[in-house]
Amino acid sequence: MKIFETEENAQKRLGLYYIPVWEHTDETVVHAIRIFREKWHSYSDKSKRYNIIKLIKELIDPSVSEYLSRLPNHYLSFCPASIKNCNYSDLVKLRGFSYTADQIHFHLRNFVNHSSHTEQDMFFISTQDMLKSFFMYCEGNRPKNSKLAPDLYVNMERKTRICALCGNPTEFSSFIRSWKENGVIEGEENEDNEKSGKKKRPDFSQTYCLNHRPKLHDGSWNATYKQAKRSTKQFEQEVLRLRRQIAHPDRYNAKSGDNLVDEYFYHYLFDSSLDPTNVPELRNLARRMVDSRLTDNKKRILVLHKQGLSNREIGIKLGGLTGSVLTNQAISKALGTIRDEFIL
Ligand SMILES: [Zn+2]
Repeated sequence: MKIFETEENAQKRLGLYYIPVWEHTDETVVHAIRIFREKWHSYSDKSKRYNIIKLIKELIDPSVSEYLSRLPNHYLSFCPASIKNCNYSDLVKLRGFSYTADQIHFHLRNFVNHSSHTEQDMFFISTQDMLKSFFMYCEGNRPKNSKLAPDLYVNMERKTRICALCGNPTEFSSFIRSWKENGVIEGEENEDNEKSGKKKRPDFSQTYCLNHRPKLHDGSWNATYKQAKRSTKQFEQEVLRLRRQIAHPDRYNAKSGDNLVDEYFYHYLFDSSLDPTNVPELRNLARRMVDSRLTDNKKRILVLHKQGLSNREIGIKLGGLTGSVLTNQAISKALGTIRDEFIL
């Protein structure tokens, strides 16, 4: 076995006999699947000597029981194979590959409904999902959309976590949502991915959304993350101001420490359809404010503009606050850079 071979190369080399292994899954199980996929081309469920179930018993069963023995007890009831009594090879022998894959899926579905999305939960989900895919490959079936009814997933929203840098669900929450809705990972099993060999389970961020994950899935740094990270403080400040103001839209409540800035938030949210429970929307709004560089000074300009002051008057008034008078042109230039959605 070629230990340092990439998954992409393994797929090219093994062709039809390739079985994917994913990142962030149990290494013992991964190792066993890697050995298995090197050997199984000469095995079948008909042959006595080269019996595929025997190969599962030799390679997969011990790795699974080793993996299960390392898990805390409360995971075990979400796994169809137990450490002592039932091995996957027995299950396959009795009921077949599809049944075994379905059982893993069924148990995992229950688990996902109970999961609090810790790193260890994620690890368990990925490993179980990889095993499910393994048995489907054994059957000769690529994993397909499951037949699970979407109404089983009513309690999903409650568990969605939000990106630290905006209002979107974290990548991991999106993964869980997609898993719950379809039983598969979005984009994971489609033709393009199969062709390009991108089979392995990506490392889903539990802190950031897809846009804001620190590194892209090809390993390079994400410029959007870096940019958003630099403005974290400002972002959080805007979130706080928006949340304060939306809680009391009838008065100045942003508590920015600056009357004109408070007045901006008051006017901006006065007719808003948002309410304090719209946290994702408010966070996305704050993100757009920061990304479009709607500074406090621009907010002041917008308020004074709304009060009917001319650009020259605005310049003088702001000069009184900041110490340097802004020209007519500077004011109209600043106004010109403001996104329509933020104009009062
Ligand atoms: Zn984000």
